[in-house]
Amino acid sequence: MTQPRFIGAEIFRHSSYGRWHPLRVPRVSTVMDLSRALGWLPPAQFITAPRAKPKALIGWHTADYIAALQRVEASQHATAKDTARHDLGSVTNPVYPEIFRRPATAAGGSLLAGELLREGGVIYNPPGGTHHGMPDRANGFCYLNDPVLAMLSLRRNGVRRIAYVDIDAHHCDGVAVGFHGDPDCLMISTHEERLWPRTGLLEDDAGGSALNLPVPRGLNDSEMAFIREALIVPQVAAFRPDAIVLLCGADGVEEDPLAHLSLSNNAHWAVVGALMGMAPRLLVLGGGGYNPWSVGRLWTGVWATLNGYRVPERLPPEAEAVLRGLRFEGNRRGKNPPEHWFTTLRDVPRPGAVRDEIKDRVAFLVKNPRTFGR
Ligand SMILES: [Zn+2]
Repeated sequence: MTQPRFIGAEIFRHSSYGRWHPLRVPRVSTVMDLSRALGWLPPAQFITAPRAKPKALIGWHTADYIAALQRVEASQHATAKDTARHDLGSVTNPVYPEIFRRPATAAGGSLLAGELLREGGVIYNPPGGTHHGMPDRANGFCYLNDPVLAMLSLRRNGVRRIAYVDIDAHHCDGVAVGFHGDPDCLMISTHEERLWPRTGLLEDDAGGSALNLPVPRGLNDSEMAFIREALIVPQVAAFRPDAIVLLCGADGVEEDPLAHLSLSNNAHWAVVGALMGMAPRLLVLGGGGYNPWSVGRLWTGVWATLNGYRVPERLPPEAEAVLRGLRFEGNRRGKNPPEHWFTTLRDVPRPGAVRDEIKDRVAFLVKNPRTFGR
């Protein structure tokens, strides 16, 4: 099997959703810079994401919506109709200079990943993970839905059974729309309860295709380890997938400004490690994550995990310089960042008691008879 491949692009370095938007911070470029500073990203493993052609987006997305996105990018203006019909130009989904090109590049990477995984392998596409995008509208900072496009690309390349695992702090409502009732898809999502979009309730099985685990605020590493071993690993194993798609959003860590979970990045890396080797194909996507240091450190550690690199206790000076160069304007977390955000990748673990409500919910999901086309 070939080495893992990393899909990235320079468009993510300077593109911003605007001065006050959570996606004003650089994320993908930090992972690329840190990985290169650590000697972990030789040219042979790097692929520049191609921008998806509009035609490749239509099918799951509507032609009208894709045309609107392109038109809004060209004019840098959303009409009242664009906002009403497609939620373009709203506070959440603002008009910004790369409003079509940026999501089309993330989607291009995910579409390409589906092709490259035809014969098997491991691909990391951190620009991907826009799991809220809907067929005809932007939703939750997501203009397109590259996870859905990746999974459809896998299907076109002969891959049938797909296990989609989503540990972002938010529920993957767009992916759930895309694969509702699909007998060859198992979607497992852990997400903070009562957090936007407030979908993905415990009882919601997406037509028999999903296991939804809402988790309480303050989710700790021990609880995530329990969820991994009692729910995620055995359910994926029983499903016998031809491919696993993992959406590894970085907003479940303690320092994230949008969610209220208390994980350390060790929890995410352990999920990545557990899923490796469980199917002949693995695609890891990014997702949420709005603290620039947390995202950069977590997602770089994901790449280390996929390659079996040991994360150094203290970063070499070139890598430290990448983290010291980050700014987090408009957020108190950017005022006096703790020293370890500059000098380490690995967080101090955040263990704790496994709460009964988590045990009970996992038991409900595991015991509930499901078909999943088995
Ligand atoms: Zn999220």
